[in-house]
Amino acid sequence: MNGEIPGPATKEMMSEVPETKERQEDESAGKEKEDKKVEEEERREDFEQARREQEAEDRDRIEETRQELKGKTEDVPGQQTTDQAGEQKLLETKEAFEKTIDRWGIKRSGRFSEEQIEELGVKVIQGLSSTLPKYHLDNRLRDMEKRTFLAEQTSFNGLILREMVGVPGWLRSVLEYIPLQGAGFYFRWSGGALINGGMPRFLIERTMYHEYLHGASSDVFRGQLNEGATEYYARYAASKQNILHNIINPQYLPGLITYALMKRAAGSEVADEAYFNGKTDGFERNLDQKWGSGSYARVSELSRGLGLGSLRGMLFAAFKGFTKG
Ligand SMILES: [Zn+2]
Repeated sequence: MNGEIPGPATKEMMSEVPETKERQEDESAGKEKEDKKVEEEERREDFEQARREQEAEDRDRIEETRQELKGKTEDVPGQQTTDQAGEQKLLETKEAFEKTIDRWGIKRSGRFSEEQIEELGVKVIQGLSSTLPKYHLDNRLRDMEKRTFLAEQTSFNGLILREMVGVPGWLRSVLEYIPLQGAGFYFRWSGGALINGGMPRFLIERTMYHEYLHGASSDVFRGQLNEGATEYYARYAASKQNILHNIINPQYLPGLITYALMKRAAGSEVADEAYFNGKTDGFERNLDQKWGSGSYARVSELSRGLGLGSLRGMLFAAFKGFTKG
């Protein structure tokens, strides 16, 4: 997943429990309750405000860092950034990302040491760049392994349920313990990845293929198409690296099929160019030629939605094009 999660819930939100006190009909008690509610709302607003400011600050700083690092590394494929300033910036980015994770209430998984995670990250970067050699993915993903964190499963699930899906407290406290609700996130602002540490090792590795590709690609597609394309390449690269339990998160399936059909129709190379370098012209032109004018725009637009309606529409448009082409 590729996410901008709005931020952590307040303590108040997290400990919401159904009202258990007996109902008071007394007016003054009602007023007191009302005052308390207002007070709580104000407190919540204050907290939200502080959080937004802090996050904006972090984001600005990290973006600056990223731009500087980008200038240093992107133009010179194959050359290492070893100077102290680069190292310092990397450390700052990493720390800012860690701080944010802590603020979200994410606990680290103790299953693997930091060194083990880094080792696995390096392996994934090598796997990706040797399978898709044209795009110098090792350069694009430099030090990504140092910005990869494993989260303890229930707190990872809690983040998804709370921030992405908005599931209320009592239900959340049950669902948090169900495994495999989500596998990972990539956060573009930090260039960092957060992986569900409750999964088997091969799934952690497999998920890193997906999240790292978010970091190495242009991010030109949106929504489900972006997820589908990312999963397409993740599956391709992981298979080539002999990750044989190459399962697909069913959530990604509609986008994956759509992207595969588009790639097949428009041509492999123009599709790669769009995904990795953000050059959509050739992809759009070829696709519209095969599927009819406006096809690329239509599928792209539909892929932004998360509802069943837009998923169905996106798949339908792709299949309609496919049977035409
Ligand atoms: Zn994703």
